[in-house]
Amino acid sequence: MGGYKNRILEIDLSASRIEVTDVADEDKRRFIGGSGIAAKLFLDRFDLRADPLSPDNPLIIMCGPLTGTALPGTSRFVACGKSPLTGIWGESACGGNFGAELKMAGWDGVIFKGVSEKPCYLLIEDSHSQLLDASDLWGKDIYQVTDILKARHKGGRHAKVFAIGRAGENLVRFAGIGNDKGHFSGRTGMGALMGSKRLKAIVVRGRGTCEPALADEYKGLRQALIKKVNEAVPAQALRQMGTDAGMDLGMMTQDVPIKNWTFPPDFDLSANLGGPVLAERYLKRVHSCYACPIACKRVICVEDGPYRTEEGPGPEYETCCTFGTMILNKDLAGVIKANELCNRAGLDTISCGSVIAFAYECFERGIISKQDTDGLELRWGEIDPALKLIEMITTRKGIGAILAEGSREAAKIFGKGAKEFLVEVKGLEAPMHDPRGFHGMGLAYAVSTRGACHLQHMTLYIEQGMSAYPEVGLKSSYKGPLSDGKAQMYLISENLGVPCNSACLCIFVLGCLSATDFADMLRVTTGFNHFDVRELLESGERINLLKRTINAIMGIRREHDRLPKRLLTPLSHEGCIPDMDLMLKEYYELRGLDEMGRPKRGTLEAAGLKDIISRID
Ligand code: SF4
Repeated sequence: MGGYKNRILEIDLSASRIEVTDVADEDKRRFIGGSGIAAKLFLDRFDLRADPLSPDNPLIIMCGPLTGTALPGTSRFVACGKSPLTGIWGESACGGNFGAELKMAGWDGVIFKGVSEKPCYLLIEDSHSQLLDASDLWGKDIYQVTDILKARHKGGRHAKVFAIGRAGENLVRFAGIGNDKGHFSGRTGMGALMGSKRLKAIVVRGRGTCEPALADEYKGLRQALIKKVNEAVPAQALRQMGTDAGMDLGMMTQDVPIKNWTFPPDFDLSANLGGPVLAERYLKRVHSCYACPIACKRVICVEDGPYRTEEGPGPEYETCCTFGTMILNKDLAGVIKANELCNRAGLDTISCGSVIAFAYECFERGIISKQDTDGLELRWGEIDPALKLIEMITTRKGIGAILAEGSREAAKIFGKGAKEFLVEVKGLEAPMHDPRGFHGMGLAYAVSTRGACHLQHMTLYIEQGMSAYPEVGLKSSYKGPLSDGKAQMYLISENLGVPCNSACLCIFVLGCLSATDFADMLRVTTGFNHFDVRELLESGERINLLKRTINAIMGIRREHDRLPKRLLTPLSHEGCIPDMDLMLKEYYELRGLDEMGRPKRGTLEAAGLKDIISRID
């Protein structure tokens, strides 16, 4: 079998003990890899009721079978565990080059248990691993610690670093983990989980290779897929303007949230914050993750003015919204500064910007005042207070200590009706795509297993007409602001997106390929006999049900599969909202869930998950 190293490092930080483990071969085919295998390990071996920041909650870092091959878009890996932000299943995938290096060092993943007595980092050099003292690194930001560790472990292959910043150390519940400065496991607070273990970084160097099982077929497939990706329109837009290419089109289609999700499209904002402006004023060069022909990453610099930055990773579309449109700030240099501060501190820019926009609205409505903000006036259109709040959140100073708990908890603490202005699902702040314009996204946000999620399904690409997968029943055009037929569309797109995530394939690359291409990538890499599109979708269903079962054990029920009030409020008199009753009813039937939102016994049996039925009762 190709695609797997058949070895997972298992580190008990409390005992400073390093062991080696693995999962059964049949589970590799059933759960693919990445978050699928991590979820299986989590359910089988760990205490699901443990506090997310306790030593009993593991941090599981996993690659997929495609990670480290030279097929396009195969850089990714994932950090998983119980989320400190949401209290349910948490996971956050990351691009860059760490995952490929980990595979080349001979490992499919690393499980961290317990908590280290003092700050430490893990050094992996091929088969050799050791825990080292990180006392001198504690308190450093992600850019600093990356530079220090690369310099300390130089010689031979360049070391790849996956590290937390001060936000993770301070247990900010939406802290992320950064790989080599420009790539992040941002969502669901995996940086706080890592910080709770006093684990500052993982450094890896590997000299091996990732050979596919079917080498001859692999070669031809690789060439064909790279050509296909290069010729695809979405890839060309991403290469030219990065993910912020979505700003102009999104403004036209009412995808972009404005003023904490309350304003209709504003073309002045997109004209100032979109990909063309980023390219024209600040772009130095483009950059890509390992083995990616698209190269959507931006390297930018603000050379002068109050928001001067070093040359470094540019903001993604989501960040241009959270620190731009969401607070009515149209100064892109300010957004770039906010991005740099979040990257250094190790903060998820979606949750951080969203919680700040929420605070702006609470300030406007008098729910909080200057007495609560250490004198800061949170005025729409002004980025400076947001920049100060980023630091206060990172250090948990003043109101930052409240906002660091995430918007759901902050609303409880603020009271006075603040929860009316929340835009989160299951505690995870929504990404920057408005479901009032695309109803399938509304269903996706409501039922995704990690909370409001735009990445574990292909809905965004399908509903916006960028991608189509006719061989699995996903056609090329769906009307965005309609709910009819969306449950069926979403279900299939989820069955396709979940294995994309588990295989650790970049979703932008899958957006340029067919479902058959994707199944072929897995088949030639692993050598799984007769692995085809049907089995691909079955694996998506199985992994989704596995994660849904984990959440059910943690208390998630039908009432949690919902959209917040704000997203069910039309933006104008003519505006419409997703028909959640219809879509949820249809989705529950299609997915085989009971009236409480749990997978039915027969559903689990049919998906090959008989062994976990007893866990849900
Ligand atoms: S498309 Fe962008 S995010 Fe995806 S692998 Fe390529 S460079 Fe990385």
